[in-house]
Formats: sequence, structure tokens, C-alpha cells
Amino acid sequence: MSEEGRTYRRRTQLVHAGRDPAAQHGFVNTPTYRGSTVLSPTVAHLKSREGYVYGTNGTPTTTALETAWTELSGAAGTVLLPSGLAAVSIALLSMVKAGDDILVTDSVYRPTRNFCANVLARLGVTTRYYDPLIGAGIAELIQPSTSVIFTEAPGSQSFEMQDIPAIAAAAHARGICLMMDNTWATPLFFPPHERGVDLAIEAGTKYLSGHSDLLLGLVSANAEYFPRLRATFDAMSPCAGPEDVFLALRGLRTMELRLREAERQGLALARWLQARPEVLRVLHPALPDDPGHAIWKRDFSGSSGLFSVVLKPVAQARVEAMLDSLKLFGMGYSWGGFESLVIPFDCTTYRTATTWTPGGPTLRFQIGLEDMADLQDDLTKGFAHLRG
Ligand SMILES: *Cc1c(COP(=O)(O)O)cnc(C)c1O
Repeated sequence: MSEEGRTYRRRTQLVHAGRDPAAQHGFVNTPTYRGSTVLSPTVAHLKSREGYVYGTNGTPTTTALETAWTELSGAAGTVLLPSGLAAVSIALLSMVKAGDDILVTDSVYRPTRNFCANVLARLGVTTRYYDPLIGAGIAELIQPSTSVIFTEAPGSQSFEMQDIPAIAAAAHARGICLMMDNTWATPLFFPPHERGVDLAIEAGTKYLSGHSDLLLGLVSANAEYFPRLRATFDAMSPCAGPEDVFLALRGLRTMELRLREAERQGLALARWLQARPEVLRVLHPALPDDPGHAIWKRDFSGSSGLFSVVLKPVAQARVEAMLDSLKLFGMGYSWGGFESLVIPFDCTTYRTATTWTPGGPTLRFQIGLEDMADLQDDLTKGFAHLRG
């Protein structure tokens, strides 16, 4: 947001972006507009299609969040979708045609693979997976039919860092669209478009929500690609739910505070886990000994509260006994809420371009806002069950 040509700093943007109290009778927040029909006062206005036209094209509530996200992301425009996965699929659908091939990181969010295999393949689009550590070497994989390079950093579950600026340079040298699933860092810790990303995807379900009570996806795009994204959105109208958009706007105002606390809590628990005798490795790019740390430090300004742990080899039944015993770490998918979570995972079963050999059972942790000592006590008891 700029006032008399001045751009406000991040914290101020988060408070003001997308708000127009004067248009809401002075109320601080834009309310939840619900509606299909929008009435026009005259035939001339009806035909002009100016302003709000119909519910699928947007409401003041969706405009508020789109505007705010565009500003925070440094984008030209944003579309809102009913889930993070819908954001992935609409982003991809807007940039491919039959006969194309796309390059997707082997560390991608697993349902993204499912979309490529079950929908893009049927439409005549081939997916090739690449090593997330490929960096500038991606240039060698580009073919004349390549239309999209899809990145995610750090990798889902496995947390490898990708050299996004190097991949962006290779993509743009050949006129290819670079996409990134930026859900982990959010635009607050990784400004996607400034780093060369053309389309940035965010599962608003996670940190934008912050409360595990909504589903939302956002795709922001730079000026070159936004018109195609918006046209695809308008042709399909996969509209986000009005209540979810309202709640996301509420979450936005405190997002930086929650993210900074998630970072602090996450690093504290990651370091504590590193010192446990049952733990082989902690996969967290903000830890100085992580293989992706140099890239993280160069390109990111923070880390969130999601990371993984490799346990020393132990029977699967013991891992299950540990997880079943935990009281404060819920077992469930998704993350970014106020509560701590843990899930076991196994990348070895579905990777195709790389072999993942972690060296032991793997767990993914989401660290919430509980007292750290209580979280550590819960895990200390859990480790007793792991040892049997
Ligand atoms: C959760 C997640 C998504 C999908 O978001 P949903 O709203 O759950 O569909 C996409 N990408 C990443 C990296 C995620 O963690």
C-alpha cells in the first residue's frame, strides 16, 4: 500500500492491506458478503459489466483478500481458490496445453503428483520429475515442449532446499513459466516474485488461517502471467467460500506474529530433538548443519514451525507405540494451526526421479503455540515408548 507514493513497511501493510473502512460505514473489517445476483440500477450499467457483476466474479470480501495478498506477495494479481490443492491445479491448468511437458520437483506435495498423473496426463500433458537439488542443471532437462517448471522449497516432508533464482534464470532463458508452492515460507519469509517466480501458490489453509478452521488456496502471479491465470479462473469459477475468505482476512492481520512464534518454537524443539539419542537427523533448513542451510540463509528471511525428524533405526511397532502415546501432538494432516501435530511419512514409496534413503523412520512435526516444556515432557514420555 502506498500513500502519497510512499510504500509502507511489512508490519504496517499487514494491518492495512485490503481494508477500506470508509466503504464499510466506518467498520474496521470488510464483512462476509454472500451472494449470487448483483443488481444493476440501469440497463446501461447492466451491459457495462463494470464493478461487481455476479457472485462468481468476486465480492468486496474476495477483493479485500486478493488485494492484500497481491501487495504482500509483490505480485500483479491474485486469485482465491477453495483449497490449496485447487490453487495448485488451477495454476497448472492455466499454463499448459495438450502436447506440453512440465518439470516437477521430486520433493513436491504428494497430491500435486496425483493431479499430474490423473488429470494432466489425460489432457495430453506429460510430467517429468527432477531432483530437487538440480539448481541450474534444470536447463539440460528443458525441451521445446516444456511449458512449466514447478518448484517447492523446502520439499514436502523431506525439506530439501531448491535454488529458486538459478531455476528461474534457466526457465526464463527459454520463456518457461516458473511456479512455486510457497506454502511453507509464505510471502513473509520468501518473496516469490522478487526471486523470479511467475506463479506462487499458497495453501491459505495453513499459516494464513492459523487456526485449522478453514480451507483456502491463493495463486499470485506477475504481470506477464496474471491475465492467463485470471482468464482460466473466470472460465472455471472455482470460488473460495465467503466465510473462509473472511476468516483468512482476520488471520492475515496477525500472520507475521504467529509465524515468528512458530519459527521460534519450531527451532527450539528442532534443536532439542537434535540432542536426543533416539534421533539420527533433523531436517530443518534453518539449522546451520542442514544441507540446505546456505540457500535458505541467502534467499529466505525466516522459517516456519514445520520440519521432519529421522529416527535411528527401530521397529515400526515401536514408532507406532511412541506416536500412540503422545497427548499434546495430534496425529492428523495439514499444519499451520495453533496446535502441535505429528505424522509418520515415507517418501521412498512414491519418488521417481531420486531415491530417498533417510536411514531410519521419519516423522513430520508441526509445532504449535503450547508451552515448550510441556511439549518436551510429552515427547520425553513418547521416547520411553519408542525404546520399549
Ligand atoms: C497443505 C498443502 C497444500 C494443499 O492445501 P489444502 O488446502 O490442504 O488443499 C498444498 N501444498 C502444500 C505444500 C501443502 O502443505
